[in-house]
Amino acid sequence: MSPSAPSLHDKLNQLRQRFIEQLPARLQHITEQWQQSRASTEAEARLGPELHRFFHSLKGTGRSLGFERIALLADQGETALNEPTPSAHVIERVFVQLAEEQQRLQSLPGQQRALAALNSVEFAPTPIKTRSKRQRLIYLCDDEPDQVGQLLHHLRCFGHEVVHFEDTDAFFNAVISRRPDAIIMDVQFPQGNTAGTETLTSLNKLTGERLPAIVLSAHGDFHSRLSAVRAGCNGYFTKPVKPLDLMLAVDELTTPLDDEPLRVLVVDDEPEVAAYHALLLEQAGMVVQQVNHPSDALTALERFSPDLLLVDVYMPVCSGEELANIIRQQPEHVGLPIIYLSSETDSQKQLSAMTAGVEAFITKPVVPEELVSAVQLRAERLRLLRSLMTRDSMTGLYNHSTTTDLISKALAQAHRDNTQHAMAMIDIDHFKAVNDTHGHLAGDQVIITLSRLLKTRLRMSDIIGRYGGEEFVVLLKGVSDERASELIDGLRHDFAQVDFHAGGAHFRCTFSAGISSFPIQPSTESLRLSADQALYRAKHQGRNQVVTSTEQDDDGFPTARL
Ligand code: GH3
Ligand code: MG
Ligand code: MG
Repeated sequence: MSPSAPSLHDKLNQLRQRFIEQLPARLQHITEQWQQSRASTEAEARLGPELHRFFHSLKGTGRSLGFERIALLADQGETALNEPTPSAHVIERVFVQLAEEQQRLQSLPGQQRALAALNSVEFAPTPIKTRSKRQRLIYLCDDEPDQVGQLLHHLRCFGHEVVHFEDTDAFFNAVISRRPDAIIMDVQFPQGNTAGTETLTSLNKLTGERLPAIVLSAHGDFHSRLSAVRAGCNGYFTKPVKPLDLMLAVDELTTPLDDEPLRVLVVDDEPEVAAYHALLLEQAGMVVQQVNHPSDALTALERFSPDLLLVDVYMPVCSGEELANIIRQQPEHVGLPIIYLSSETDSQKQLSAMTAGVEAFITKPVVPEELVSAVQLRAERLRLLRSLMTRDSMTGLYNHSTTTDLISKALAQAHRDNTQHAMAMIDIDHFKAVNDTHGHLAGDQVIITLSRLLKTRLRMSDIIGRYGGEEFVVLLKGVSDERASELIDGLRHDFAQVDFHAGGAHFRCTFSAGISSFPIQPSTESLRLSADQALYRAKHQGRNQVVTSTEQDDDGFPTARL
């Protein structure tokens, strides 16, 4: 976070400030309404629901933002209204006391006002989980030069930043000053046969963390392995190490299941409460959108496609329960987890909410940690279910139909924003021969490796799909076809250097690629056709190359694949 970025407390204080500033106008409006309504019982009855809503939401917001006295007064107002014949005297007294409390808060200097609220709200901010990048920092500590060169090449080829250390002291100091994402550690050093694992053990003790580490050793015996496990190592390889295996192990160790942040849509008619909950969730690394009118929720669902919906139960126009029902009636949102937020503690009401297909009920004011973990648990479950449907199980890339859907959506957006995109169709060369010569498992290894290469080297925003067997499609956002061609050619070059092992043999593989661009090709289908024709040319011209589509492709070459 940059030093000038406002802290969570600053943001919270801004919310509190806004709430206090807006309170006089709200109070004045409702008091005027109240006085007018006193003229007739009919008008009084009409005002009833609005007044009830006023007290109820003031109670919720007051509590959430830590203004305990305001919440208490609002609660007295609400209780009075719930009586068979509400006492005008009590309600008027509440109005007066609310105005007094508002003035008191307003007159406090900013710092004290913040303290006044903080004293009454227990708040422990959740640590920020920064969004993970795909590039990893890896420390390789090994004093045997013959192996190191090859390992460095492979790790760098997959886009990782690798720092090499020849001795354990320099490595030790480096870890203290800058933590790597993973460590690859040789065990034997001149000072002893277990110097590597000993260094890791002391680092783990010193930092109080278990650093993700893979050990390389000349020995594969039980005791050597046991000492590595005791040093907290996650992987163990005996030398000579196959660079690709090691690379995949590092990838496994450092790649989270899903590095997209969770998305939450908050629907609450009280902007400050919505903003407060959004802040708590954002602090935990989630992306949050707020909606203050239930009628906007459907459009927001469509545009924002959240992993979870956090809904206030008590809203004017339409209740949280009704909103949940509307959403559930649409097939595409049937699985969307919904959590209700309410100052309602009545278990009967909670029960009826559950029957509307709501997953959980959280009472306001929320305990920040509870809110975050309730949201995280349910949103991640949906993510997992969704990924089973949208991703290819072998590579974790998007499957064919999802890729097409995502590309179409990206193009629709690009039409609106007037941006350019490039598409690359990538196909492994003579892949059938790999299977025939080295077996299907070796073939799978090649597919997985290319997928990893695409994932680690392209940007998070790019769309990467496995289109068919050994064929991939990539939408590179916001780049020209020349830039895309350079990028893919870089990948082609590095992929061709990767050593694959199968049985006793080792071999290398290449791929060919065709590039097309938007808006020259204005639709998903024409973009795909055009990239496909360029790919055909790449194959035709000898493979292991990247070809950019030209006008000539569109009428000169057939579309049938080799
Ligand atoms: P070209 O250079 O023209 O692309 O030749 P090729 O041999 O790569 O192309 P072809 O389309 O003839 O062969 C593709 C092969 O890929 C055939 C199929 O058995 C194999 N294949 C498809 N999916 C998988 C998979 O998941 N794993 C493995 N190991 N092989 C697969
Ligand atoms: Mg093929
Ligand atoms: Mg092929």
